[in-house]
Amino acid sequence: MNWQKYVRTVTPYVPGEQPKQEKMIKLNTNECPYPPAPGVMEGVTRLNGASLRLYPDPDVGALTGGLADYHGVKKEQVFVGVGSDDVLALAFLTFFNSDRPILFPDITYSFYDVWANLYRIGYQTIPLDEDFRMRAVDYQRENGGIIFPNPNAPTGVEEAQSLIEEIVSSNTDSIVIVDEAYIDFGGTSCLSLIDRYSNLLVVRTFSKSRALAGLRIGYAIGNERLIGYLKDVRFSFNSYTMNLPAQEVGVASIVDEGYFNQCRQRIMATREWVKVELSRLGFTFPDSKGNFIFATHEQVPAAELFAFLKGEGIYVRYWQRPRIDNYLRITVGTDEEMRAFINALEGYLSKP
Ligand code: PMP
Repeated sequence: MNWQKYVRTVTPYVPGEQPKQEKMIKLNTNECPYPPAPGVMEGVTRLNGASLRLYPDPDVGALTGGLADYHGVKKEQVFVGVGSDDVLALAFLTFFNSDRPILFPDITYSFYDVWANLYRIGYQTIPLDEDFRMRAVDYQRENGGIIFPNPNAPTGVEEAQSLIEEIVSSNTDSIVIVDEAYIDFGGTSCLSLIDRYSNLLVVRTFSKSRALAGLRIGYAIGNERLIGYLKDVRFSFNSYTMNLPAQEVGVASIVDEGYFNQCRQRIMATREWVKVELSRLGFTFPDSKGNFIFATHEQVPAAELFAFLKGEGIYVRYWQRPRIDNYLRITVGTDEEMRAFINALEGYLSKP
């Protein structure tokens, strides 16, 4: 059994459950409750057997160009991948390559430590303050890179542009990755900083606000040199990660700006009334700028509420981890789903 010691053993990331139940309310993985833009299916109809015979465009040219136009940057500043998880995994491999530890908040996207462990990158977690906020001074120490989501996940807390700029400008010797998976639900993007800071990489996804989690599209925007390094690593790994249907549908999905805006506005409006209802039921939560709310109840333990809701066919996310084991992360669904969720909670909490 000598081979055992040469195996790269890892503790994998555990994604939220994808239950196969027919009737359920799924508020556990921050998916969009509405379908993608009606035009996206045109992308699929453009496909035929002949086009699938060939390898897809390794440069993902049409989608890269579309995103560059959309954001008003050069196409050399855009890198497209198979979901932002793919983009982030490649970014860890490409940019976090020093012998100093990388830094990220103690409460954050739970894939970061998994990638760090997979690639054997040392890391230090920086505690958020008691309001789940970051402090720029905590990131003014030796490091081999910095990563955090804004708004943060699972808290939903958005940090100000000034704090992000302070972190980026005081760490010009390392790369700072801002994961903007949830930026479209009312946050302010730090994309405007990329021209001033060559060490800033912004990562986005089509999974949440564009309702395309099933398709797997994510992208990064940054300085041309950063994007070039990212491409070199991708092409040293797998040239054809993004399949042709995903490329076609992705292009179709950025065309319909009206639908996109309407969809995210609806989610934000639902989020705001759900906040009011949760407060009424005795929950507290940091003010969320994501498509989810991270809430704790003043009297009833989160684990108990999680189990009750699951029994009702209502799935939310719960982590048994230090500092957050009394919180539930509740994805914002449709008004109807959220009404049913609030009613179920109200019934349970009002029992003597
Ligand atoms: N970043 C954050 C903060 C997330 O919560 C998620 C969703 N799990 C992702 C990235 C990855 O999303 P995707 O791979 O679907 O783009």
